[in-house]
Amino acid sequence: MSDVFSPDLEIRDLIFEYGGEEAKKCYQCGMCTSLCPWYQIEGIYYPVNRFPTAVRLGAILNTEDKDEIARQMTEVFRCVGCEACLSSCPRGLSTPFLLRAVRRILVENQSIPAPLMSTIAKFINTGNPLAGDPEKRHAWAGEGGLPAFEPGMELAWFTCCTADYGPRCMSASKATLKLLRKAEVKFGALGTQQQCCGKAIRRAGAEETFSRLAKQNAELLGKVGDARVVVTSPHCLVGLRRDYPELGIEVKAVHITQLLDELITEGRLKPARELNLKVTYHDPCTLGRQSGVYEEPRRVLRSIPGLELVEMENFNRDQSVCCGGGGGGIWLDWPKGERLSDLRVRQAAKTGAKVLAVACPYCMQMFEDSVKTTGVGLEVKDVVELIAESLED
Ligand code: SF4
Ligand code: SF4
Repeated sequence: MSDVFSPDLEIRDLIFEYGGEEAKKCYQCGMCTSLCPWYQIEGIYYPVNRFPTAVRLGAILNTEDKDEIARQMTEVFRCVGCEACLSSCPRGLSTPFLLRAVRRILVENQSIPAPLMSTIAKFINTGNPLAGDPEKRHAWAGEGGLPAFEPGMELAWFTCCTADYGPRCMSASKATLKLLRKAEVKFGALGTQQQCCGKAIRRAGAEETFSRLAKQNAELLGKVGDARVVVTSPHCLVGLRRDYPELGIEVKAVHITQLLDELITEGRLKPARELNLKVTYHDPCTLGRQSGVYEEPRRVLRSIPGLELVEMENFNRDQSVCCGGGGGGIWLDWPKGERLSDLRVRQAAKTGAKVLAVACPYCMQMFEDSVKTTGVGLEVKDVVELIAESLED
């Protein structure tokens, strides 16, 4: 945002056309700035409430100065789309939605951080952000891969790229497979034609890439009929529930922790092995604030004999702090001292827990890195992994 008032109405109108018209709603109360998690990082000044004014006046992206463009780019991409600001805005203004429109212009002009540029190229070439071989999407499942979805099955499994190709997150996929088999769920995957849901890259401003991915997935999801679609990642949950209906794609999506809660309640899964562990649970923004799923993962964890669940003081449920991976943050490099994941693992360690439980592959990846670099004495585990450990073979 420029400190000098120099309006550019063409830019303003383009941002409005791309969905940023809600900038008009803002009356500058400043709540968004005070609730943004960046406010908690020492040395970072992130006046979120300046974005709506800058957009309304067309005083953004209106400079030829390279340093100023770079500064604005950093500010525009700092938002991790956690929606802490939206939940407190008295005018219901979504800053990440507003910034998505601004980012779209930056993507179209290729004025984006280099790692994001390379991630978009991976999406274009392979349909996923890790440049994984599409034919090997389910190679982690062993020979034969995953069963294919067929009409009449109870569930379709929409797997997550990060948990299909990411070395650490893959173990959550393996644990999920074990649990579905143990509970004798009739399920099938969408196959190697499945693309990334595209939700996160859309938040990063790559609208065209998102549309291409979603259209390819639409064909597969169209065959699912009335079966529910279970997702590994809450980013896919938000994508399928919020973004896909805009394209006319409607499915009944549930997160794996919601499904596990049902299977345990129905007695189809019986965690029996004691895990004498003190565990704290991190609410992913996409599962908590954005999908309203707070209790199911907690009930699942509490069903494990011996496990003690403790909460992070003040920053749990809808007050949870983002891992920093949302809004495209997972693909960006922030310098040490500017990482939300570092802040979060320190909050988790303060509880005295030995395990930080997560329910999202992005959180897993972000926290694994932070646990290593900060040296806090925590182990990061997916809720699914913990349940799989507590099942008797
Ligand atoms: S909380 Fe909403 S109304 Fe208040 S400054 Fe932020 S965007 Fe504007
Ligand atoms: S979505 Fe989160 S990171 Fe982005 S401006 Fe709002 S509170 Fe800050």
